[in-house]
Amino acid sequence: MLNIKNLHARIEDGAQILKGINLEIKPGEVHAIMGPNGAGKSTLSSVIAGKEDYEVTEGEIIFDGENIIEDAPEERAHKGVFLSFQYPVEIPGVSVTNFIKAALNENRKANGLDEMPAKEMLAMIREKSEQLGIKKDFLSRSLNEGFSGGEKKRNEIFQMMMLNPKLAILDETDSGLDIDALRIVADGVNAFKNEGNAVLLITHYQRLLNYIQPDYVHVLANGKIIKTGDKSLALELEEKGYDWLLN
Ligand code: ADP
Ligand code: MG
Ligand code: MG
Repeated sequence: MLNIKNLHARIEDGAQILKGINLEIKPGEVHAIMGPNGAGKSTLSSVIAGKEDYEVTEGEIIFDGENIIEDAPEERAHKGVFLSFQYPVEIPGVSVTNFIKAALNENRKANGLDEMPAKEMLAMIREKSEQLGIKKDFLSRSLNEGFSGGEKKRNEIFQMMMLNPKLAILDETDSGLDIDALRIVADGVNAFKNEGNAVLLITHYQRLLNYIQPDYVHVLANGKIIKTGDKSLALELEEKGYDWLLN
């Protein structure tokens, strides 16, 4: 599904951050990326999603057999790449529901589909919001306006479940993630996951991996993946930190 080859990227007119990333993600897999602060984890997620502050200087990002490096962020989203928003924007006057309806229909349109019939949309909103314990009044609130950390998380995961991407990239760098927010993310990912999609989970929190079983754990340091293992690597990192890997 995703095949990243020798990816080098830098900040527009700035420092080289990614220095040769190789990563292959197959359908049905969950990959976790961990690593010290400043390693380039958020940069990697932004570069996969196509955020414009970064420039790819070498390498390829193959998604579903196509190099997507030249694609705009929206095109990548339409192809099925989802990136959770670390700092989501507030949109006064646009409700959680109306935002997701518009996003979903735009996605369908870009893929040559008609708008989802209102009844079907409503049923889907009901199903997904119930799975996440989202109440009706939350759905009619203005997007992100006055949302708590947990509510922002819940909204992000709701967006992921509604848009049903092939690849969901979740960048959980928010130091404010309390145990409730971890649970929201974990429950959402576990409900979302199936044999046809994949999750790239970027996290500082070993704890999160107690709730989400990763197939692979990678350590990213200084712009490179320096070690790959299974879930036991996350436990080892929790115990020993990163220093033993950095020399
Ligand atoms: P991580 O998510 O692993 O903590 P980041 O990808 O956020 O690391 O950052 C990697 C490095 O790149 C850091 O030194 C950070 O300061 C720098 N960096 C990332 N994005 C930008 C940007 N838009 N402008 C300036 N520096 C940036
Ligand atoms: Mg950071
Ligand atoms: Mg980060």
